[in-house]
Amino acid sequence: MVKIKEIQTGNIFSKTSFKGYSYVINPYTGCTSGCSFCHACFMQTFTNHQNENWGDFIDVKRWDGIVRTRRTVAGRNILMSTVTDPYNPIEEEYKNTRYILEQLQKIGCNLTVCTRSD
Ligand code: SF4
Repeated sequence: MVKIKEIQTGNIFSKTSFKGYSYVINPYTGCTSGCSFCHACFMQTFTNHQNENWGDFIDVKRWDGIVRTRRTVAGRNILMSTVTDPYNPIEEEYKNTRYILEQLQKIGCNLTVCTRSD
């Protein structure tokens, strides 16, 4: 059974060195798919999930909105997501990805979405 936890974060954007992108956004940390080849399992170390298996947990991020970062990200290339699948099955309930897309639409930026979901 997947352990789901809500966590508060100050800023949903992270600067990145991914070529061609200024920022990444991860609506969740962890991924219920738990693919054995996943590069993102290193996140366990940074998020207090060292004793859990990759795929057995997911943190749902909560934040105060992205209005104050509007000037910073407007017109930038943004990548979603690098350490989760933004369309994990729990997106149906928590709608974090949808919420971000609605906010980004008002700001205007170039967004790439990575997902294994159909
Ligand atoms: S779907 Fe993507 S993020 Fe999720 S476990 Fe598989 S490779 Fe990792």
